[in-house]
Amino acid sequence: MSDCLFCKIAAHEIPATVVYEDDDVIAFEDVNPQLPVHTLIIPKAHYDHIGDDVPAEVLGKVFGAVGIVAKLKGVEDTGYRVITNTGEDGRQTVHHLHVHVLGGALMPIRMGPAD
Ligand code: AMP
Ligand code: ZN
Repeated sequence: MSDCLFCKIAAHEIPATVVYEDDDVIAFEDVNPQLPVHTLIIPKAHYDHIGDDVPAEVLGKVFGAVGIVAKLKGVEDTGYRVITNTGEDGRQTVHHLHVHVLGGALMPIRMGPAD
């Protein structure tokens, strides 16, 4: 997708701090980190979100990179949280499938019970 920010990062057309890359995925630092470790993992191919008929193989590549990134970022033993925001209620702001890997400190508890 020519107009997609994360497609441009995947193509190295705009800069990012790359943590890990292979033929299928790229992981880079979130520009607005919410915790000491905040890395995004995306497939190089464009999918709008996790519900966008993403082939299982692609999901396997994306989630397979989680453990690699956790090790590279030094949070494999302390733990971390993996999030993929989807759509308006999920507060997705970049509409290219991405997984947040968050860690390096105890996760703040922000959600309360639903009404
Ligand atoms: P989401 O709200 O789940 O769509 O997350 C999008 C994430 O992308 C946010 O955490 C942003 O801080 C991050 N982000 C936006 N632009 C960039 C960029 N150019 N490089 C790295 N991260 C970005
Ligand atoms: Zn894209």
